[in-house]
Amino acid sequence: MLRISELKLPLDHPEAALREAILARLGIASAELLGFTVFKRSYDARKKSAIVLIYAIDAEVHDEAAVLARLARDQHIGPSPDTGYKFVPAARPAPGTPRPVVVGMGPCGMFVALILAQMGLNPLVLERGKIVRERTVDTFGFWRKRKLNTESNVQFGEGGAGTFSDGKLYSQIKDPKHYGRKVLTEFVKAGAPEEILYVSKPHIGTFRLVKMVEQIRAEITRLGGEIRFETRVDDIYVGNEAGVRQVQGVRLSNGEEIATRHLVMAIGHSARDTFELLYERGVYIEAKPFSIGFRVEHPQSLIDVCRFGPNAGNKLLGAADYKIVHHASNGRSVYSFCMCPGGTVVAASSEEGRVVTNGMSQYSRNERNANSAIVVGITPEDYPGHPLAGIAFQRELESRAYVLGGSNYDAPGQLMGDFVKGVPSTEFGSVVPSFRPAVHLTDLAPSLPQYAIQALREAFVAFDKQIKGYYKHDAVLTGVETRTSSPIRIKRNDADLQSLNTRGLFPAGEGAGYAGGIMSAAVDGIRVAEAVALAMAA
Ligand code: FAD
Repeated sequence: MLRISELKLPLDHPEAALREAILARLGIASAELLGFTVFKRSYDARKKSAIVLIYAIDAEVHDEAAVLARLARDQHIGPSPDTGYKFVPAARPAPGTPRPVVVGMGPCGMFVALILAQMGLNPLVLERGKIVRERTVDTFGFWRKRKLNTESNVQFGEGGAGTFSDGKLYSQIKDPKHYGRKVLTEFVKAGAPEEILYVSKPHIGTFRLVKMVEQIRAEITRLGGEIRFETRVDDIYVGNEAGVRQVQGVRLSNGEEIATRHLVMAIGHSARDTFELLYERGVYIEAKPFSIGFRVEHPQSLIDVCRFGPNAGNKLLGAADYKIVHHASNGRSVYSFCMCPGGTVVAASSEEGRVVTNGMSQYSRNERNANSAIVVGITPEDYPGHPLAGIAFQRELESRAYVLGGSNYDAPGQLMGDFVKGVPSTEFGSVVPSFRPAVHLTDLAPSLPQYAIQALREAFVAFDKQIKGYYKHDAVLTGVETRTSSPIRIKRNDADLQSLNTRGLFPAGEGAGYAGGIMSAAVDGIRVAEAVALAMAA
């Protein structure tokens, strides 16, 4: 099989043109091309009236060696790399070794458990939230009736934080071992559309994610894993073994104790009580940077026209996304984060008396608004003094948002133009906010520190140069966005992925500070599963 990259064709090319282009590029006759598959398809929309599709193709040809030799100088043609997943060669653990325990059934924990189960290591997964169907009822109940279940919500439950999301499945992580391909392949096996394997920015949307999570749970169980829901880890036992701190087990919310020497903590960025527990048990934790800001809603049509011009609405392109950055005069970076084309803004609280926003969409991405977090980067210098100070900082901002919103889980909101001018909003314009239960118009300035407000005001005006029409008076801002990434890092050794000071503890995924997003959390899960398998064999 050989790979052709950078094969460019016009957006509306007929299907047959692709085969023709492959033949022309390889300089072979039709009979010599035995077959081909699209490995990746992206687009270049810099020239809006002439958008170009860019393909990477895997082609099977009659005499591959001859073609490769003839085109040896073409840097876009070469043998297709092997992107298949290979399990680490780990020996069977000694008889009597307790099974590995995985805390959290988000994308990270799910992939730790799936890989361990595929290796025959029978993981036990402990998840504080409910199975995904019941969790959906609780989450929608909160959005409709303002009734928050602090153990079953957007953050907690089967599937983790990404379940009610846009389901974006791309990431900018380096992936030399093609773990991302393994994740996508497992998702397709679990019911995701095949196109996620080849489109450049795959996404699956909320409802499909729910079904896939159920399928993966069934697969883990079929392979000998066990998953317990509504089971929170409330304590961990760490012993001193010849001067080394070693994990020995966990205590569950029902009082049960479970022995293990291999404990994966894939707990996400919102398990603040569990972060506190780990800190109290002496696990090494440090503060890390994250970002704060607002969700912004524009009409999706505005973004589509700006990005795709006359090609707005083209089915292959779908609803347009955007990525924008502004370096503010006070030294802060302001950037778009977790942009959801054709989606909705969601209430993502997991604690009483606090409001936090996020975004989600369905596969079709056909809601009328585009939403994105617009956030300001902050560092531990903004919340100094304690490794967990970032959590207190997030809580403070989320509590302020709760009060500004009317103390009933409505989110505080403001029109973009009013925010920039510093006047409270009283009436919505053409953009109808999608957040449920409701958006309470007010002045958002007291919701964030002054440096963030100043940077955001400057950025909204500046973004108009990047996306014409972005600085729109009646675009709606909703606050506050605080859970952009984990405020802590549970540091681990690079070599064996175990905690810096606690053997047998594998900090993993977003909560531990080693991932940001569904794909990178799942990829980290694979890496950690391999580390666990190797440690169990040792
Ligand atoms: P999580 O998904 O947070 O999973 C952690 C799990 O651990 C949770 O289920 C939790 O209940 C459980 N847990 C915590 N503490 C305990 C305990 N003590 N005992 C037992 N269980 C425990 N990312 C994208 O890439 N694309 C998107 O489109 C996207 N959209 C998003 C939309 C929303 C609304 C949200 C909230 C997030 C979105 N994200 C998105 C981010 C993405 O969801 C996260 O990056 C990802 O889920 C992190 O995976 P994780 O497995 O590390 O942690």
